[in-house]
Amino acid sequence: MNTVNVVGLEIDTRHYINGQRVASAETFTNTSPIDGSFLGEISRGSQTEVDLAVQAAKSAFPAWAALGPKGRGEKLLKLAELVEENIESLAQLETMDNGSLLRSHRRGVMPRVALNIRFFAEWAINELQHPEFETRGHTNKISWDPSGVAALITPWNAPLMLATWKIGPALAAGDTVILKPAEWTPLSASFFADLTKQAGIPDGVFNVVQGYGKEAGAALVAHAGISRISFTGSVPTAKIIAKSAADNLTPVSFELGGKSPCVVLEDADLDLAVELAVEQYDNAGQVCLSGTRILVHESIADEFAIKFKEKAAKIIQGDPREEATQIGPQIHQVHFERVKGFVDRAKESGANIVMGGEPNSELGGLYFRPTLVMNPDPESEIVTSEVFGPVLCMQTFSSDEEAIEMANSTEFGLAAVLVSGNKDRAEKVAKELVAGTIWVNCFFVRDLRAPFGGSKKSGIGREGGNWSFDFYADVKNTVFSPNGWKE
Ligand code: NAD
Repeated sequence: MNTVNVVGLEIDTRHYINGQRVASAETFTNTSPIDGSFLGEISRGSQTEVDLAVQAAKSAFPAWAALGPKGRGEKLLKLAELVEENIESLAQLETMDNGSLLRSHRRGVMPRVALNIRFFAEWAINELQHPEFETRGHTNKISWDPSGVAALITPWNAPLMLATWKIGPALAAGDTVILKPAEWTPLSASFFADLTKQAGIPDGVFNVVQGYGKEAGAALVAHAGISRISFTGSVPTAKIIAKSAADNLTPVSFELGGKSPCVVLEDADLDLAVELAVEQYDNAGQVCLSGTRILVHESIADEFAIKFKEKAAKIIQGDPREEATQIGPQIHQVHFERVKGFVDRAKESGANIVMGGEPNSELGGLYFRPTLVMNPDPESEIVTSEVFGPVLCMQTFSSDEEAIEMANSTEFGLAAVLVSGNKDRAEKVAKELVAGTIWVNCFFVRDLRAPFGGSKKSGIGREGGNWSFDFYADVKNTVFSPNGWKE
């Protein structure tokens, strides 16, 4: 009842509060998107467990804050090492739970989880500046003080990766933490909790409350004992959380959805443009940053479309544990139906679907074929809404100005991919694109020193480097007068 046996591991699926496993009376069922197999029952958190976790995190806060960046860093670096030692287990576990590629978890994602922790621990020790400057003989001393208990709420598409973008800086900044993972992917957080214990992170400093968003998540963000809310997820959920946070004026950091453009100018290296465009199907389209609106100059659109379809037709869809597989399933039946609903409605409204457009009948289950919608109505929902599945739209433009206007025409502003053969031109166009990250002739290059986040409805605030500490810490200025000193 309280454990899941998966990929040779025994995972305790109760909450992790104050260094102890805590069960709820009720549980919810966890299944694998790979084949629908039953993975186990997970403790279903509510107000009671959230209260316990906040209490524990508040009690643990003063001692953790007092350790300072170096003291905390020692434990966080140990935690990063333990993640590295457990890459294979974490990779297999995450793949079973969320259906993303095993090989990318092994080689990219889990090493990155370790880096997320190490980077912020080291940044707090070595890079976070404490500037001092004079004002009419007075000395300003800037400090970054721990703020209290951070509530971290994360989605299912890259569970531990996205969680550690938050856990790393929050703990390094001296906050204590309560993580509420997505209910469709609870397992890696449970395993990770054991690693924090092994790393010597004191009881109560890191807590996990499992459960549904509307129950555990809602209780957590409404709690008056929380000093920060860091949320990655959808725009509708963010609106609910923002209202709840308003009652306590709790600061929020939001990393939200996108409908990013992939803009291909007519001077682009066509093969590179095609490669980058096809990459937007990665993780079966379940990537917030995905450039799902392919905007191509009309003079090269036909050639581009032929090459794109040729390349996309070769995408190998299947079991994400197989080395050759390039994209796997959708996360859950509910999400699969949502993606299918978008495509079905596009079909009904007469959209020209030139690739895919249906579930992969050879595989069954939650596998949806890579889909391309050609020249859809710019006002239609398939162009304006986030589908979060393997569904791309292709549209054409006739000038840079038109490309920019189309690229900026949604309510989102998370990212953009721009492909061009001319650096000056690319710089001019990139300057006009409204998004937190613009990738020119590349995709998914993410340096933790750089700001990451969304413009418009894609988010509030930025993560990475100092930006993370700006959020999790209480940034303080102490002004020392030259007068009044007795010694
Ligand atoms: P979601 O908003 O449904 O859920 C995200 C998390 O919020 C889950 O843990 C859920 O349990 C919790 N939640 C739900 N209702 C809540 C409530 N009322 N109060 C508190 N917590 C609540 O999103 P999802 O479907 O899990 O994830 C997909 C979305 O996440 C997409 O929109 C995607 O673009 C976005 N995303 C953004 C980024 C980014 O960095 N910008 C990264 C990954 C995913």
